[in-house]
Amino acid sequence: MNNKKMYYSRLRRGLISAFFIFILVPTLFVSWVTIYNLRKCAIQRIENSGVRMAEDRTDAVSQYLNKQIILLSTLAGMYPIKIMGDQPHLDQLFRSVNERGDVVDLHVIDSAGKQLAYVGPYRSSIEGKNYKDAPWFKEAMVAGKHVSDVFMGYRNVPHLVVAVTDPLKTYVFRATINSEKFNALLLRAQTGPSGDAYIVNRHGEFQTPSLQGTIELAAAEKNLLEYHEGTSTRTIGPFLYTSSWMKDGQWLLVVKSKISDSLGTFNERRNNSLMIITASSMLFLGAAVLLCRYMVGRLEQDDRRRADMDQQMVQVEKMASIGRLAAGIAHEINNPLQMITNQAGWIEELLPDEDPEAVKNLGEYQDAVTKIKYHVRRAGTITHRLLGFSRRMSAEKESVSVNELLEETVSFVENEAVNHNIIIEQLLDKNLPTTMTDGPQLQQVFLNLLNNCLDAVEQNGRITITTKADDTSISIEFADSGPGISAEVMKQIFDPFFTTKDPGKGTGLGMSICYDIMKKLGGKIEVKNNKVGGAIFTLTLPLKHLSESGQGDRRTSGYDESIY
Ligand code: ADP
Repeated sequence: MNNKKMYYSRLRRGLISAFFIFILVPTLFVSWVTIYNLRKCAIQRIENSGVRMAEDRTDAVSQYLNKQIILLSTLAGMYPIKIMGDQPHLDQLFRSVNERGDVVDLHVIDSAGKQLAYVGPYRSSIEGKNYKDAPWFKEAMVAGKHVSDVFMGYRNVPHLVVAVTDPLKTYVFRATINSEKFNALLLRAQTGPSGDAYIVNRHGEFQTPSLQGTIELAAAEKNLLEYHEGTSTRTIGPFLYTSSWMKDGQWLLVVKSKISDSLGTFNERRNNSLMIITASSMLFLGAAVLLCRYMVGRLEQDDRRRADMDQQMVQVEKMASIGRLAAGIAHEINNPLQMITNQAGWIEELLPDEDPEAVKNLGEYQDAVTKIKYHVRRAGTITHRLLGFSRRMSAEKESVSVNELLEETVSFVENEAVNHNIIIEQLLDKNLPTTMTDGPQLQQVFLNLLNNCLDAVEQNGRITITTKADDTSISIEFADSGPGISAEVMKQIFDPFFTTKDPGKGTGLGMSICYDIMKKLGGKIEVKNNKVGGAIFTLTLPLKHLSESGQGDRRTSGYDESIY
C-alpha cells in the first residue's frame, strides 16, 4: 500500500518536474534572449542619440568660437591701429558689439606686445602689461588668430581668449569670452540625472566645468583622450561616453550618460514583460500541477478499481475451483452412500424376520441400522449441498414471486423455529413485483440464510425478513437477534469451508453458495452488523434480469444430479 502511495507521489513529482522542465526552461530561455536583444537595441538607441548630441554640441561650440573670431576679424579689418588703439573708440565699439554680453573685455595690443587700449572690468590689474612673450600673443602674430585653452589668468577667473590680428598684423585684437555663455552651450547635452557633458583639452584638463562637478578625469577615462576622427562611442563601467575632437584636435567634447538612467523605458517594458511572463508561467505551472494531480488521481482510482475487480475475480475463480472439486467429491461419495443406504434398508427389512430369541441383540442391530441411515442422510445432505454449490445455473428463468418463495422457505424451518422459541417476522412488501430469476437457486439462498440465522439466535429470539423494491431492484433483508459477526469472521464469511460451528454441524459452504448464486443471478449479497445487535444480510436482485447469468457456468462439469 505504502509502496503504491510512493509510486504515485513519485509519478506526480516526475510529471510536475517534466512540466517544469519542458515549459519553464524554454520560456525562461526565450524570455532571456528577447530581453537581451531588447536591451541591445535600447543601448544602440542610446549610443545613436549620444552621437547626435555630441555632434550637435561640437557644431554649436565650434560655431560659437568661429562667430567670435569672425566678429573680431571683421572689426580688425575695418579699423586701422590708430583708430582701434583709441580708448574712446574701443569703449564705443565694446558697447555696440557686446549687447548680448558674450564678451567680457576687449584688448588692443600693438605688434610689440604693448597694450594700446583696454575695455573691461580688469583695467587696473593689467595696466602697462607687455604680452610680447605670451604664447597666445606669439601664435596670434604668426597664425593671425588664436583661441586659447581655458586658463585662470591674472584675475584668477576662468578665461577663454580669442585673439586676431588686423590684416597687416600691426596689432592684436583680443577678446575674453564670457565663460558662462560658453559653458551654457553644453547644458543641453546632459542626459539623465547622472549624465555629464564637458570639454577637455589634450591633457585632460577641463575647459568647461563638468555638469556633475568632476574636476579630473578618472584613470579609465584617460583612454578617451586618444585621438580619433569623427565621433566615437565607448562604454566604461556603467557609463556610455560619446566624444568628438574639435578645435583642430585641441579640445575633446565628451557627452557622458549613465546607461541605466537612459534605460528607463526599456526597464519599464522589461519589468512589464517579466511580470506577464512570470504570471503566465505561474498560471501554466498551476494548471500543470492540477492536471498532473488530476491525471495521477484518475490513474490511482482506475488502478484501485482494477485491483478490486482482480480481487473479485480471484474470489470467483476460487469458488469455481472449489465448485469443480466439490462436484467431483460429491459425485464419488454419492454412490457408496447410496449403496450404504440400500444395504442398511435391506438389513432393516430383514431384521424383523429374525427370531428375537435366536438373535440376542436384535434391538441393538435395529438401532445401529437407524443410526447408519441417519448419518448417511447427513452425509447425503452435505454432498447435496456441495452439488448445490457446483450445480449448473439453469438458464431456465421463470417469473418468480419473491414473497411467495420466502413464505414457502420459511415454512420449511418454521417447526425448528417454534421449537427454539424463535419468532420469524415477515415484513413483506405487498406490491413487490415478480422478477425473472431462477426460483430454486434463490430458495437455496433463502434457506441457507435462514438456517444461519436460526443457528446464530439459538433460543428465544427473532428473525425479521423484509422485502422492498425500487425501480430497478428488489431487496430482501434477513436480520437476526443473534450475537452478530466479528470483524475476523466478516473477512472470511464468504470463503468456502469457512465455519465457526462444530465440525458435525457446519460445512462452511452456506455463505459461499449464497455469494455464488447471487452473483450468477446478477444480484449481490451484503452483510453487516445491526446497530441494535445481530447480523443483517441483504440480498439485491435485479428486477428485469432476463438475458444475463447462468449460461455456461464454468464450475459445472455436466454433473447429473438426478440420482438424488
Ligand atoms: P456454516 O453455516 O456451515 O458454518 P456458512 O458459510 O453458512 O457455513 O457460514 C459461515 C460462518 O459465518 C458461520 O460459521 C458463522 O460463523 C458465520 N455466520 C453466518 N451467518 C451468521 C449469522 N446470522 N450470525 C452470526 N454468524 C453467522
